[in-house]
Amino acid sequence: MYDIIIVGAGPAGMTAALYARRADKSVLLIEKENFGGQITYSPQVENYPTLMKVSGSELAQMMLDQVMEHGAEIELAEVTAIQDGGEKKTVVTDQGEFEAKAVIIAAGSKHRHLGLPNEDELVGKGVSYCAVCDGAFFSGKSVAVVGGGNTALQEAMMLSEYCTHVTIIQNLSFMTGEAKLVTALSAKDNVSMVYDTVVTELVGEEELKEIVLHNSKLEMDYAISADGLFVAIGQQPENEPFADVAALNEAGYVMADESCLTRTPGIFVAGDCRTKSVRQITTATADGAVAALAACRYIDSI
Ligand SMILES: Cc1cc2nc3c(=O)[nH]c(=O)nc-3n(C[C@H](O)[C@H](O)[C@H](O)COP(=O)(O)OP(=O)(O)OC[C@H]3O[C@@H](n4cnc5c(N)ncnc54)[C@H](O)[C@@H]3O)c2cc1C
Repeated sequence: MYDIIIVGAGPAGMTAALYARRADKSVLLIEKENFGGQITYSPQVENYPTLMKVSGSELAQMMLDQVMEHGAEIELAEVTAIQDGGEKKTVVTDQGEFEAKAVIIAAGSKHRHLGLPNEDELVGKGVSYCAVCDGAFFSGKSVAVVGGGNTALQEAMMLSEYCTHVTIIQNLSFMTGEAKLVTALSAKDNVSMVYDTVVTELVGEEELKEIVLHNSKLEMDYAISADGLFVAIGQQPENEPFADVAALNEAGYVMADESCLTRTPGIFVAGDCRTKSVRQITTATADGAVAALAACRYIDSI
């Protein structure tokens, strides 16, 4: 039996593994597809302290090297359930079952994509899912934001500070975000909002050049040029396997505060998969440390 099993090897899970190993706990880190998590999709990270510029995959590799150096064991498997047996937790995967005294869920989340054919190829070449992460690359350029909720509106507001123009593309006939934000954006000369409109095509190969739009009210197709497209249509946590041991909110995030405790003693949660307002590498790594130290304290108390 391991001391701690960590589900998910993104920045949160890997930081948790590092802290747990440094506290001399045995650790199994289980990842279903991609050691490094979401950040491996980022061509350039410029907001992780001490690293001026690093590709997401380099950063992920450095994190993995560090946890391996400290003696964490890794397993490529998908966790399908966690069973709480009090002082023994069973982690069920598609490769078999593993036991631990404590479990940290660090399963992350995924940004919803538009589902357009060349969307994935254009990530890092104009298409982004995070203005906080990538907005600065588009300073002095023209961008579009897809979405009408608070995240999209806040991202548009931020981008409007340094982009020449921001077009907000909303599929409904109204914005679903706060009226105050809509009013503030409406007052800006470099922001325009289009309603009843969806993106139907991304034009560009080496980089994004144009976005083709369809207005469903006017039954009209047209293209706008844009250097960047920020897709802000929500995130999708994948927390169903943990619903028996952790309470999920209506959006599917594991309910926990900064203490990273779930409703089950000995089961903790860290990173983008939990309820929180800022989903970044720094906040994920911070959670990883908090959850690991809480798990160590729990183990020492049983
Ligand atoms: C394109 C892109 C660019 C970004 N750029 C930046 C940036 O510049 N700066 C910044 O701070 N943030 C950036 N982010 C956000 C940042 O990557 C995330 O906030 C961070 O990765 C969250 O870490 P995490 O460990 O909580 O989750 P994730 O990184 O999502 O990792 C979770 C891991 O858990 C695994 N997993 C999920 N379910 C299971 C299961 N059932 N069994 C086993 N494994 C499972 C997943 O496969 C994944 O590897 C970016 C995100 C994207 C998508």
